[in-house]
Amino acid sequence: MQNDRAIVVGGGVGGLSVAIHLALRDYRVSVFESNSRVGGRANHLEFDGFKFDTGPSLLNYPWVFDELFQAAGTSLAKELDLIRVDPAIKFYWPDKQTFQLSSDLTRLSEECRRLDPRDGVGLFNFLKDARRKYNLSFDRLVTRNADSPLAWFSASGVTNLTKLGLFRSMDSQLRKHFKSKKIIEAFGSYGMYLGGAPYDLPGIFSIIPFGELEHGLWLPRGGMYGLIEAMERVAIRLGVEVRTSSPVQSIDSENGRISGITLPDGSKELAPIVVSNVDVPTTMTRLLDGKSKASTKDYKPPRMTPGVITYYLAIDRELPELNHHSVFLPENPKQAYDQLMNQGRVPKDLPFYVSVASNTDHSLAPAGKSSVFLLAPVPLLSNMPETDWQVVTQQLQSQMFRRMNDHGIAISEKDVLSQKTWSPVDWSDQFGLFDGSAFGAAHNFRQIGPFRPRNISSDINGLFFTGASTTPGTGVPMCVLSGKMAADRIVKWGLKEMTV
Ligand SMILES: Cc1cc2nc3c(=O)[nH]c(=O)nc-3n(C[C@H](O)[C@H](O)[C@H](O)COP(=O)(O)OP(=O)(O)OC[C@H]3O[C@@H](n4cnc5c(N)ncnc54)[C@H](O)[C@@H]3O)c2cc1C
Repeated sequence: MQNDRAIVVGGGVGGLSVAIHLALRDYRVSVFESNSRVGGRANHLEFDGFKFDTGPSLLNYPWVFDELFQAAGTSLAKELDLIRVDPAIKFYWPDKQTFQLSSDLTRLSEECRRLDPRDGVGLFNFLKDARRKYNLSFDRLVTRNADSPLAWFSASGVTNLTKLGLFRSMDSQLRKHFKSKKIIEAFGSYGMYLGGAPYDLPGIFSIIPFGELEHGLWLPRGGMYGLIEAMERVAIRLGVEVRTSSPVQSIDSENGRISGITLPDGSKELAPIVVSNVDVPTTMTRLLDGKSKASTKDYKPPRMTPGVITYYLAIDRELPELNHHSVFLPENPKQAYDQLMNQGRVPKDLPFYVSVASNTDHSLAPAGKSSVFLLAPVPLLSNMPETDWQVVTQQLQSQMFRRMNDHGIAISEKDVLSQKTWSPVDWSDQFGLFDGSAFGAAHNFRQIGPFRPRNISSDINGLFFTGASTTPGTGVPMCVLSGKMAADRIVKWGLKEMTV
């Protein structure tokens, strides 16, 4: 017997994942996506023969995608041709020091010892410690729905609580193992995407660089968007109805129970289950429109990760000076984090990320040319009202070019054949990102696990959430897991409903 109809609002990574998992459990699933293409932040741009991924530029934790595809009767290997990106990320500092990550342990250990002779052993201890945290986290915490802090802490096992590094900062966790300030700053810089300085985020997040070293960084041939196309293909194969160019006006309920959705022309689509993949605070403030107690004017949104300006540059030459992934760090990261996240200002000494995916997959740019992606973090829109983003965008582009030139990477405006640029306003308008936040709700201690916005509504029966701002958190693999966790919730909820 087929289960009820479930409507998924938004075809981002979480939306596609929950759709697949619900279809596998015999729900009739319809995805309504406002844009002409699914993927959300993980989208795709193509112009003048150059191809770009708009958001995610690196695929990590491949096992998460393999599990999803295996559940659907296929596999990651069958769906995508993955190219390993190694050497992985290279970090640059203004004093011209660099740090090159690699999944090759011998090379990485040599690189750590180059920065501090004691850090060969430090690396070994870090990997051992992070592996334990990683296994504990994924086995017991990250992939399970927790109904209360007690249940969550108990799931990890009381004796493991301190081992997880929940009660110390990411920075202090890294300092425990490494002596080199540069290594600590490099691994700590992952905090930028989690919405906190490494001094404020829990130490458990040291598992992120570990996960990348252990499982490698990958690029699907043809670009990251190939992953989204594969997810959409699998969903459709399982019978999911995907309606693009279909914005949802509101999520509807009657007497505290979901009734369906309303489209802009006033027509209604009925279903007892709605899963919103739209950023949770946007869902609360725009789509529920006071219908949920949680969405009234007293609604207090979570603390959000910063915004970004992203640049998609068609470059008129090859760029052998750059690897696929590069991160340019500031002289004083503490000051930069403070300016970005607490003072709400663009950091003077700007940290930024550069990806030249065409160095890994030459099909992404015409012969002899390069597709270059730049990402500059900027404060939330509410911190920068009345900003002329065109001016800021140009200033930061020149600043990033100057910084790269300082490192002998001779890139200039003359090399740019054409380009597109997305400010936080563009990100927000296109995908409904709350306050222009690029990565969703931040991951400080008060917003992880059972403290994060939940994936089940507290007062509307039949309403669920998936995506970066709910559990477990941001990033493509996490959003895939988020879809599975939302589906688990729905199945459990459905069983309870039958007994009422
Ligand atoms: C610049 C950038 C770089 C990143 N780099 C990486 C990376 O390298 N690796 C990584 O793992 N992660 C990366 N991320 C994070 C990752 O992209 C996100 O965590 C993930 O894609 C978010 O997915 P989601 O499920 O929250 O859906 P979203 O991407 O938020 O999608 C939500 C969907 O809902 C749709 N929608 C909104 N409103 C409506 C409405 N009213 N009706 C219908 N549909 C609606 C939107 O159009 C969108 O398609 C990056 C993010 C950004 C912004």
